Amino acid sequence: MKFSYLHVNEGRLQNTLEQMAKIGATSGGGVQRLTLSNEDKLARDLFVKWLYDLNLEVTIDEMGNIFGKQQGKNPILHPVISGSHLDSQPKGGRFDGTLGVMGTLEVLKTIQDLDLETERSIIIVNWTNEEGSRFAPAMVGSGVWSGALKRDWVYNRKDIDGKRFEDELSRIGYKGSIPCQKRPVYCYYEYHIEQGPLLERAKKTIGVPKGIVCLHWYDVYLEGEANQVGPTPMEGRHDALCAAAEMILKVNTLPNRMGGNMVATVGEIQNHPNSRNIIPDKVHFTVDIRSWDDDHALSAWKLVRQNFEDIAARRGCTIRIEETWRVDRSPFDKKMIHEIKTITDELGYPHLDMISGAGHDASYMNQVCPTAMIFAPSMSGRSHVEIENTSWKDCEAGANVLLHAILHSANEKRVKSKLRTH
Ligand SMILES: [Zn+2]
Repeated sequence: MKFSYLHVNEGRLQNTLEQMAKIGATSGGGVQRLTLSNEDKLARDLFVKWLYDLNLEVTIDEMGNIFGKQQGKNPILHPVISGSHLDSQPKGGRFDGTLGVMGTLEVLKTIQDLDLETERSIIIVNWTNEEGSRFAPAMVGSGVWSGALKRDWVYNRKDIDGKRFEDELSRIGYKGSIPCQKRPVYCYYEYHIEQGPLLERAKKTIGVPKGIVCLHWYDVYLEGEANQVGPTPMEGRHDALCAAAEMILKVNTLPNRMGGNMVATVGEIQNHPNSRNIIPDKVHFTVDIRSWDDDHALSAWKLVRQNFEDIAARRGCTIRIEETWRVDRSPFDKKMIHEIKTITDELGYPHLDMISGAGHDASYMNQVCPTAMIFAPSMSGRSHVEIENTSWKDCEAGANVLLHAILHSANEKRVKSKLRTH
């Protein structure tokens, strides 16, 4: 059965997005809702209120993941899950993550408005700490849920002020009692902004990623020797910041040296004691390597790690490296991708096949159940910044695709469990 006349309420979707954007609003038009901050709590409170307004069955697990379930006709059938995240980067944008959660909320409202009963239950989710900027690594809510990350390891992660994840989760009142572990799921959808320029350049409305690149995160800690900058000659210094500077450029040239098909970035650095007249003795920086080819990313890391060790030895600094986090590339479910493309065609939206260069909770969900994503265009390809923007028309278009995709999956009657065992 086709529902090509069905569409979400664009004005209502805009309204919920605008209301959510008030929480943690920044002067530059973005939002700052760092994971487990007071703003994250307020966003969660509003989200939970909206779930109760829709009479959903609300549950919060021990990682603070929030679920809202709309019961289907047949309780034996496994549910369809859809959602994303409400946390943000420091001075981040209003759409990253939020669009997927509010988009799913709008889908549920539309389904309720029309009294459409689905065979399967539909569960909306807000995953905890997708961003990983306050507590590394990213995507830990879905990571623990899927079984890829250990709960207690995540609980003990600390922010830059030494605050523990678990303590902050309790402080904001979102450490739920339900075990955070995977359960049978029919399929998972995540609607998200593209966070890149390809859709806009190609003048397409919907991005259909075939999957997500692999993500490798590393932390590098250097130790040199502090001293007064004036009386200490240049020869014989053990300047940890200069060692880091050389290493950062090695990261920047890595994709070129490896022959492309990857990106590599140092995005965060701490310099100690960070005083203009003391030679820096301690530096910490992060490395982020992504590629569609897992082996290529690992070979790149091997090469740059050797570069780091050579530079540290030459500059008389000690080096400690933490291999913080790895997520393999995630090829999405081919049938779901096909269905999404069919829906975009029927709705008259031009689509673009692509690969997601950004990590998403869909990476971990893809390890548990058939998964796919829907992308909306990012204006000027900008994301993780305050000016991040997507037109309301495009927000609506993606939500319409999500609506039809969810209805399609939630009405498929196959009983067989699709829970992946690997
Ligand atoms: Zn996101």
